[in-house]
Amino acid sequence: MTAKPNRDALLATAHTHMPMGVADSYRYWGDENTVFVKSMKGCTITDEDGQTFVDFRLAYGPIILGYRDERIDNAVISSIQNIGTMTGFSTRMDSEVIELVKSMCPQIEKMRFANSGTEAVLGAIRTARGYTGKNKVVVVEGGFHGLYDEMMWKPDVDSWDPESGTIPEIKSFGGGIPEASREHLETVSLNDADALDEVFARVGDDIAAIVIEPIMGNCGSIASTQEYMQKLRDICDQHGSLLIIDEVKTGFRVAKGGAQELYGIYADLTTYAKAMGNGYPVAAFGGKAAIMDKISFGKDGVTHGGTYTANLIALSAAKATLTTLRDTDALDSINATGKKIQGILAKVFDKFGVEHRFAGPDSMFGIHLGTIVPQNYRDWKQTNSDLYTEFAHNLIKQGVMLEPDSREPWFICEAHKNMDFDWLEQVANDAMQQALQ
Ligand code: PLP
Repeated sequence: MTAKPNRDALLATAHTHMPMGVADSYRYWGDENTVFVKSMKGCTITDEDGQTFVDFRLAYGPIILGYRDERIDNAVISSIQNIGTMTGFSTRMDSEVIELVKSMCPQIEKMRFANSGTEAVLGAIRTARGYTGKNKVVVVEGGFHGLYDEMMWKPDVDSWDPESGTIPEIKSFGGGIPEASREHLETVSLNDADALDEVFARVGDDIAAIVIEPIMGNCGSIASTQEYMQKLRDICDQHGSLLIIDEVKTGFRVAKGGAQELYGIYADLTTYAKAMGNGYPVAAFGGKAAIMDKISFGKDGVTHGGTYTANLIALSAAKATLTTLRDTDALDSINATGKKIQGILAKVFDKFGVEHRFAGPDSMFGIHLGTIVPQNYRDWKQTNSDLYTEFAHNLIKQGVMLEPDSREPWFICEAHKNMDFDWLEQVANDAMQQALQ
């Protein structure tokens, strides 16, 4: 374990100020492993003790071009200096950003902004309920849609035995989540058409929406099959339910038009965040005009708003990021880099005889060790995630930053194209060798 005296001192102070000593619970990796970042640039972060990491975690996905990308930062600084940050009124930039989104995402006719993925999902679901007059929402095991009560129920795969022939129990994320928030939630396993049929046969009349990450950015990029996406589209159309595609992680990353461009199957409502702003906090939801127009005043109008909604820091960042992604070859370059990195890792795994599968697109690929080709979250449980975690911790020690959990993909940004790939191969070799000892 490398000594981290500055981190230890900062964490000790932080423990006196914040629960768990962190500003977000998922940043707590134990007192021995919690990371304190001092600065960031390109594809690297440098911690408070001077260690620099090549970062494949990228803040859980928002960094698509690179940290402190001057194309984006200069646009934001100029906007702040020449226009301001927010007034609580409309600006021309509202429509300018939406026009950019529409030029890449043909399913978007109207849109509204939000401040986080959580808020975007909440807005989409409320709009779907308001439009359909129905209550229930179907989600997929292993997907994640943010930290509001209704989306904070998940299959308890930790205490589930895949050999048991049972299905994992659905449990809340923890305390403070009322049982009532689960009342309208239905859960299905990815790529299981029969499970969808069963839910729709049982409560189809009351299903407002299916919400899905087609490429599960929160489950090692395990992806929906083409047939399953078509099934989702068809079953929603048959029952008057809406298909909400959560592109908070995939949007403007896996393709200019997100996962929907890859499948050629389009949602009624889509949520975006992360890559939309290269690290500035911006989010949005949108879709068919007839559905979005349900957002209005009046007795049945859907409420949407928020003090910081469409603030100009977020919108100037989105405008510059989306323009760059649309008008340059950044995504092609990111995909090429992601492919190259998978090639390097495959070479290392093969050298040690470690069976492995890559899942998802090159810009956010998952790694699943073992012989299983996972099709859903239950399959993930049967991958060798312990070996992955050991491998990831060894990589982190040597300067490769990752979430040490194979449910989080490797995120690639444009700036990774200039990293030292030979070095990556060498440290991956060392990390796997140690993990297998
Ligand atoms: N939806 C998906 C697919 C996500 O991955 C996340 C966060 O990781 C969210 C929603 C929630 O976004 P936020 O953390 O910005 O609230």
